[in-house]
Amino acid sequence: MKTPQDAVPHGVQLLHDPLCNKGTAFTEVERDALGLRGLLPPHVHSQDEQMARFLENLRKLADPLEKFVALSALHDRNEALFFRVVCDNVDEIMPLIYTPTVGLACQRFGHIFQRPRGMFIGVNDRGRVADILRNWPLKAGIIVVTDGERILGLGDQGANGMGIPVGKLSLYTACAGVDPALCLPVTLDMGTNNEALLADPYYVGLRRHRVTGPAYDELIDEFITAAREVFPDVIIQFEDFANHNAFRLLERYRDRICTFNDDIQGTASVAVAGVLSALRVKGTKLADEKFLFLGAGEAATGIADLLVAAMVALGIDVAEARRHCWLVDSKGLVVKSREGLAAQKLPYAHEHAPVADFLSALTALRPTAIIGVAAVGGTFTPEVLRAMADTNQRPIVFALSNPTSKAECTAEQAYQGTDGRALFACGSPFAPVSFAGKTLVPRQGNNCYIFPGVGLGAIACGATRITDEMFLAAAHTLASQVTPADLDQGSLFPPLTSIREVSARIAVAIAEVAYERGLAAKPRADDLRAQVQEQVFDPHYRTCV
Ligand code: NAD
Repeated sequence: MKTPQDAVPHGVQLLHDPLCNKGTAFTEVERDALGLRGLLPPHVHSQDEQMARFLENLRKLADPLEKFVALSALHDRNEALFFRVVCDNVDEIMPLIYTPTVGLACQRFGHIFQRPRGMFIGVNDRGRVADILRNWPLKAGIIVVTDGERILGLGDQGANGMGIPVGKLSLYTACAGVDPALCLPVTLDMGTNNEALLADPYYVGLRRHRVTGPAYDELIDEFITAAREVFPDVIIQFEDFANHNAFRLLERYRDRICTFNDDIQGTASVAVAGVLSALRVKGTKLADEKFLFLGAGEAATGIADLLVAAMVALGIDVAEARRHCWLVDSKGLVVKSREGLAAQKLPYAHEHAPVADFLSALTALRPTAIIGVAAVGGTFTPEVLRAMADTNQRPIVFALSNPTSKAECTAEQAYQGTDGRALFACGSPFAPVSFAGKTLVPRQGNNCYIFPGVGLGAIACGATRITDEMFLAAAHTLASQVTPADLDQGSLFPPLTSIREVSARIAVAIAEVAYERGLAAKPRADDLRAQVQEQVFDPHYRTCV
């Protein structure tokens, strides 16, 4: 098994190794020393020139999916250049390699497929998962794994869901500098119940319906055991599992291995950071707020749980803290009298008469904040926004559903519908909005503010567990990076251009908690920031001879 530090390969093999390839940027000396003479055109280009050439071509493409394909191809041939392009143009490139474009890329995955990336492990592989993982040529430090059942708000995409672990791990590197050689995307192909995919000749996955019950659990368990056997220190991030599996898998493994679920815990952390920023504008405290969620799934209950943890950390009783959070799901307001509620909703099933829909719940409860995470587009209607504006001087309106087509409202609608008073955050990017002579800059409550820094911090200290306390520390750290100037223009998050610094600070915060709680395997350096920085991958080329 290679480690990132191993000697670079030679000749044409080197040009085909994306972790080492520099293409036309190999110097004269390197070309002689590494058997490259004649295999490249004579002129040596700098990485800056290569980046400019790539961007020139990328910007000529009109279609985001074509841009996604061009970026994937670059990723496949030259990782350093790919990450230079991403890091230096993060605002432009992030929406192309992750939400919203990655949703479309998953839906079209089989049709745009060029080269495999990561590992596919299927239900037919029971009994040989460790052997399969040994085919991976590197020592994985972080695995992002999906079973493709709930890809963004797009439902079951089966093995096509691989776009998500690949995209997410690119963000680990782009946003925090996690070494790409440590990153392993995994798709567990449990089958798919998406009939359109099963009928699609280009679908990449197994032609079978989803496996459930013990067969499903056994493969997950074998995968977790095998991953830890083959890569003993690996962090395993669960991603885009349907909520009937996501919560119970998190519960089963969170205290046994170093794992987290970004849809639940990462989302919670970024949303709580957004709320903390909104409180600064309002001049209120967490306990002054009442949150009404549209949706009661992974995002909603994850956010509610972390809000409760934040209130408890302020000395508020847990039962009291929970009464600040209310959920509306597809059957209406979650109330105590409802039968058959999923376990994660129970803490928020308060005494109240049944209410059938969101607007009625809003009228009955008069929340100060609405958080949309139901993946149903357009549900923050003009009536909903008006009701919020009528009862709040500064209503908190988070339309977090992805992709853009599923957003509860656009930024423009949020500002128009509340006379420009909404404290707004979104799941997908929206352009700045001019309102009453002011330019309001909505920012994405993007999980990429959180999970890359969490991963980097966990790697830097050798975290043995990832806890909710760490996600709360990450939320506070992120919120602390929002400047008064950001708040003044309506931005509840810092600009994406500062993401590397944000991630580094979050990494330090995570390591601090890990050391404090005895959850770190590596010795602590005097300078924790330097300890974190040591792990950071720099996409600028290094000489290799
Ligand atoms: P989920 O499937 O776990 O939950 C969806 C919830 O919405 C379920 O409780 C369901 O009952 C409810 N719902 C469905 N239709 C509804 C309706 N008509 N009215 C009310 N409730 C309804 O999904 P999730 O992981 O919670 O994600 C939800 C959405 O949030 C997705 O679009 C996802 O992309 C987005 N999200 C955004 C961020 C972010 O912006 N940082 C992070 C995570 C998730």
